[in-house]
Amino acid sequence: MTLSELLPSLGCEAADHLEPGVWPRSTCLGRDGELMFAGAPVSHLAARFGTPAYLIDEAEVRAQARAYRHALPDAEVAFASKALCTRSVLRWVAEEGMSLDTCSAGEIAVARSIGFPAERILLHGNAKTPEDLKAALEYGVRRIVLDSLDEIEQLGALAHHRQQVLIRVTPGVTGDTHAAITTGTEGQKFGFSLVDGVRDNLDRAVAAVLTQPSLSLVGLHCHLGSQVTRVDRYEQAARKMVEVLAHVRDTYGVTLRELDLGGGHAVRYLPVDAGFDLDGYVRRLRVALGYECSSRGFPLPRLTIEPGRAIVGPAGITVYRVCAVKRGSRTFVAVDGGMSDNARPSLYGAKYTARLVGRHSRAARRPMTVVGRHCESGDILADDLQLPDDLHVGDLLAVPCTGAYHHSLASNYNLIGRPPLVGVRDGVATLLVRRETEEDLLARDLG
Ligand SMILES: *Cc1c(COP(=O)(O)O)cnc(C)c1O
Repeated sequence: MTLSELLPSLGCEAADHLEPGVWPRSTCLGRDGELMFAGAPVSHLAARFGTPAYLIDEAEVRAQARAYRHALPDAEVAFASKALCTRSVLRWVAEEGMSLDTCSAGEIAVARSIGFPAERILLHGNAKTPEDLKAALEYGVRRIVLDSLDEIEQLGALAHHRQQVLIRVTPGVTGDTHAAITTGTEGQKFGFSLVDGVRDNLDRAVAAVLTQPSLSLVGLHCHLGSQVTRVDRYEQAARKMVEVLAHVRDTYGVTLRELDLGGGHAVRYLPVDAGFDLDGYVRRLRVALGYECSSRGFPLPRLTIEPGRAIVGPAGITVYRVCAVKRGSRTFVAVDGGMSDNARPSLYGAKYTARLVGRHSRAARRPMTVVGRHCESGDILADDLQLPDDLHVGDLLAVPCTGAYHHSLASNYNLIGRPPLVGVRDGVATLLVRRETEEDLLARDLG
């Protein structure tokens, strides 16, 4: 029997939808504690593909892409591929009319392998290698975002025909997010400074690009950081960037037509998390850009934005199987994955929730900590959760909001193979990336 044939018997009851925004809109509770994901029962997916497994809801990714395109019909919306860079996902976002933000030769290779239109691709990165630059030039990536004077010189030498470039600016606006994912302020490694007298400041960058005959300066870029909830920060950045565009025009006589405001829009990992107000963001940006441009007599630039997490994060969940339950002064639930498939708790102190799936439990809820199987005490997936007291070996747990920066940050630490990525649409599951095997692990080790 196929999964879709099973559907009627495992259908969702209307009132059983889980917190939207944390769980994909397609998830709901079916009979007997089953969790339905994009029309498929999660315990069946776990049996078919094994655990741990990343599940991604194709319709949810497409819906997010469409919501962004719809909210900003005149802007270019580029998917930040580092959030989840696989061929199928890039195909979905290409079909939804998105552009693509890449940051390495590897990401360009994936985009190239599916024929992602080069004129819709940007290349970023604070330290691009010659291989990254060559890959972009070879494929004809339309824009490269420059991040240092050294890079301007290198690209100037490598490029042949008027490569379009943007300069990345540090607008001095904080994203109020974790230090490891803040990028818009002074004193971190990204972008050109607006501070006078600093070697890598914006004026030197503009002058350097303008002396390179192979480069064509078309715009400016900034990115505040990641998991930013406050839309007023983007408004501040937009105002600052128009001021900088006007400064470049007044100083160098060039009117730059493109403004890229980066990504970083927050998603909800926990029900208590604030989400990102896309409509408010769009409204404030329009007003801020309209006002700043008209008061400076500057033509409205073509806007690009680069959401990554917001497109794929809430569309994914991870399914684990419980390996052991350790009851002491604290109760630890150890699962068959951990920091190798979810690096975010140990990298940024990120918080997650989890729920039992595949059976219904009437047992009392108790505080438990879900930990991974890796040899590190920081390998904690979710702390202080209320889970049923009868949780036992073999149970399945699902963790929501794992579509972004999970597969892409995964490692094979402890030589645990990386999980598969399974796409689900209308109850039909497709293996998009297979599980990493022991043969894969041995293949690179030449002895
Ligand atoms: C990481 C990154 C993004 C995407 O960030 P999200 O938090 O995934 O939206 C966009 N632009 C640049 C330059 C980035 O480095």
